Amino acid sequence: MSKKENIVIIGAGLCGSLLALRLAQRGYKVSMYESRPDLRTTDISAGRSINLALSDRGFKALRLCGVEEKARDICIPMYGRLMHDREGNTFASSYSGREGEYINSISRGDLNGILLTEAEKHENVTIHFNTECTSVDIENTVAYFKDYNTKEEFSVDGDVIFGTDGAGSALRKSYYLERKFLFSYSQNFLTHGYKELEIPADTLGSHQISKEHLHIWPRGEYMLIALPNLDGSFTVTLFLSYDEGEYNFNNLTSEEKITEFFEKEFSDALELIPCIKDEFLNNPTGALGTVKCSPWHYQNKTLLLGDAAHAIVPFYGQGMNASFEDVTVFDTILDEHEGDWGATFKAYEKARKEDTDAIADLAIDNFYEMRDHVANPLFKQKRKLEMDLEKTFPTEYFSKYSMVTFNEEIPYAEAMKKGRAQDKALLNMVAHHDLDVITDLNEVLKKVQEETNEILEEDKIAGFK
Ligand SMILES: Cc1cc2nc3c(=O)[nH]c(=O)nc-3n(C[C@H](O)[C@H](O)[C@H](O)COP(=O)(O)OP(=O)(O)OC[C@H]3O[C@@H](n4cnc5c(N)ncnc54)[C@H](O)[C@@H]3O)c2cc1C
Repeated sequence: MSKKENIVIIGAGLCGSLLALRLAQRGYKVSMYESRPDLRTTDISAGRSINLALSDRGFKALRLCGVEEKARDICIPMYGRLMHDREGNTFASSYSGREGEYINSISRGDLNGILLTEAEKHENVTIHFNTECTSVDIENTVAYFKDYNTKEEFSVDGDVIFGTDGAGSALRKSYYLERKFLFSYSQNFLTHGYKELEIPADTLGSHQISKEHLHIWPRGEYMLIALPNLDGSFTVTLFLSYDEGEYNFNNLTSEEKITEFFEKEFSDALELIPCIKDEFLNNPTGALGTVKCSPWHYQNKTLLLGDAAHAIVPFYGQGMNASFEDVTVFDTILDEHEGDWGATFKAYEKARKEDTDAIADLAIDNFYEMRDHVANPLFKQKRKLEMDLEKTFPTEYFSKYSMVTFNEEIPYAEAMKKGRAQDKALLNMVAHHDLDVITDLNEVLKKVQEETNEILEEDKIAGFK
């Protein structure tokens, strides 16, 4: 393999632009093709999640590529959840009992813009916008494109092709259409979709509610969340069923009904969303799905990364973080197998697949946790106990959330396995009122650890992964 090799990347989103940057830093010649216009010069945010929660796995990848500080400059730290009940009362729940563990609200467009600019600084990177990949001949590593400006259709012959073209990946589509190999693929949609709304800044340009929290209005069948933006506004996301329940996306079609729904369920939020009717009726409703597939690669020729390989629902705030972590893992594998793309792709998938499957499952779990359990008294008690344990034993106790979000050295699959067992142990203790008897936190920790180990042992015997 020569570093002059011609690498084609389809999709210049978060994963593709970080991958292009890293490969350029390693000396490869990269041509990247993006169907949308350049987001640094065109406003194309409508319909896509405007801000995202960035956490430690994402930062690790950004650090590898030398752009961590640039990203941190545009982050707003969120230290915990702030729950809003129907009456407008709020209660806070920290993300961690340890100092310095928090998640960050960041603009998707600004972060993507930083990555594109950093990638373009390398003369061995070329980015083509307004250019959609229509299909890929995976046998001959030829990608077919359509240029939206010139309407021209053309093909590009790459030595290797990476598909970082998101949940609707054209490369992945070519895998199953070409039928060259046994390709397993599943796509599972939630019955819920999402719609974005806005709480604008106040007249002084400040945030109208705490910017140090991720706000949640948990309502069982539906949920509203809000993340802060640097301009003082919040991006609010409503998660709601398409067609089930008294209120759903299909029947909220009139101003009266939309207002009635928000007045009844989210009255404190409604007061802060002045353009509710226009935004609700005009902003698109997005679908939420999980994509799992394998293999991600075809021989030594093509590879899927990011959402193209493993799209997940957004409830753990990990889709982007996992896609960035793909680049970290790929880079490590490249260190071991550089010169042999076939071995690199195979080893990469082997190292990564179990972990991306795990975060996909955890993200579904968190859908139920956020919309429902966070308001449950048992759950609240468990979270409080976890905070106390993390505060008192910062090097010994890590909640599932902490393992997933703040411990980038713990693989997702391990965090899931241990975290689920630990959750079970804690909930058992809370439900059985053990804490009325055991008041010493040292003893609580010991009991949680013992029960967690017992559950893990039972899971192993039962053959659970
Ligand atoms: C509502 C919502 C909230 C989310 N919140 C979070 C969060 O808080 N934290 C988090 O970590 N993750 C979050 N995510 C997930 C995150 O957005 C994705 O995991 C992340 O964007 C994946 O990056 P990607 O580059 O793989 O895909 P994408 O960001 O989708 O990028 C793919 C790129 O490829 C381009 N493209 C697509 N098809 C073609 C084609 N045929 N030819 C050329 N170009 C093409 C697209 O235009 C796009 O630029 C959220 C997702 C949603 C929907």
